Amino acid sequence: MTLRHCPSTATMRDDTLLTHLGRDPAGHAGTVNTPVYRSSTFIWPDTSTLENHLRQADDPHYRGHIYGRNGNPTTAAFEDAVARLEGGFRGLIMPSGLAAIVGAVLAVARSGDHILVTDNCYWHARQVFDQVLPRYGIQATYFAPMLGEDIAGLIRPNTRLVYAEAPGSSTFEVQDVPTLARVAHAHGALLMLDNTWATPLFFKAFEHGADISIHAATKYLVGHSDAMLGVIVTTEALYATVRETVRHLGYIASADDAYLGLRGLRTLGVRLRQHERSALTVAHWLQQRPEVAQVLHPALPEATGHALFKRDFLGSTGLFGVVLKPITEPLIKTFLESLNLFAMGASWGGFESLIRPQQCAPSAQIAPGVLLRLHVGLEAVEDLIADLQQGFEHLKFTQRSPRSLP
Ligand SMILES: *Cc1c(COP(=O)(O)O)cnc(C)c1O
Repeated sequence: MTLRHCPSTATMRDDTLLTHLGRDPAGHAGTVNTPVYRSSTFIWPDTSTLENHLRQADDPHYRGHIYGRNGNPTTAAFEDAVARLEGGFRGLIMPSGLAAIVGAVLAVARSGDHILVTDNCYWHARQVFDQVLPRYGIQATYFAPMLGEDIAGLIRPNTRLVYAEAPGSSTFEVQDVPTLARVAHAHGALLMLDNTWATPLFFKAFEHGADISIHAATKYLVGHSDAMLGVIVTTEALYATVRETVRHLGYIASADDAYLGLRGLRTLGVRLRQHERSALTVAHWLQQRPEVAQVLHPALPEATGHALFKRDFLGSTGLFGVVLKPITEPLIKTFLESLNLFAMGASWGGFESLIRPQQCAPSAQIAPGVLLRLHVGLEAVEDLIADLQQGFEHLKFTQRSPRSLP
């Protein structure tokens, strides 16, 4: 049977790309999906093939397969698909989102360097910056997320990297990524972005000046809460350096998890649009509730950085914050435990709804109260609202004087 070639992706829109990227039926016996290549070892038919592979092993642009730690056809398909979707040069698959952060930072920063990190960044990244990197002589300081142009005043002669996360996944301020990138570049520094919230679909990191973008693919790219996965995407200029470092550090992900990432991509567009619609409906409903002090959602007009969101983003997703008016800890527990559809759990980006209390930097400018983070999943939004409503009613019932809420 003659198989049709994969069509050129040059002019495809994102939804079409999502169905075509990382697939090559002609190269895989006609299978629609790139199969799982479980492989550590690739064997060579003769010594000249062996020599040919080994000669090119250190060339970052070589796409042949030599050893599992350098990847295989499944992991390469995932890397290529994400990079193409985001507009970067190429991707590097990693075993988790945090590994992608650590690997990328170690690839570009060296002992004696300084990093400027947004104050609203992912909590565990902050722990790496505060507790691990100083041991290797890399020092991080934090900048207020909305600093914009004024970040110039914080850049030191040894500042190697400006690290952004827009919106920050704890308090959801949207940073001015193009401005941060421009100022960083003017001072000889790089701009790295944690683009997990928006995904390659809703924020085109490289059009907006990023040199490196990382994703916790564990979240929306895998999308089903059943695998840990990360990816680093870089410009052409940085690819060889980053690849060399992360592969020397021994980072790789399994073909099974890469397959789950590829599978997740197929439905990313429809899932995200549903997450977006439902999250906005829930956010608007929460804004009307007497128990709520503030809703932290970049697509709401009053959100910090909303103008930047409108300017730079192609959509919003299902994760946002809500600040309840100050209530006691037992009441918060009662509320959380009374919910049936919003489960308490770490992570987000799966098909299911989650809720949890959220830590944030003490300097965050949010209303006093209790910060919760919601991930609005793919359940019927009416059911999700009914769940929150019964939670709030339970809270009222157990509260001695609900009207005394400030
Ligand atoms: C979860 C998360 C990470 C880390 O990803 P893991 O796959 O859990 O290691 C990084 N950044 C953000 C914004 C996240 O939400």
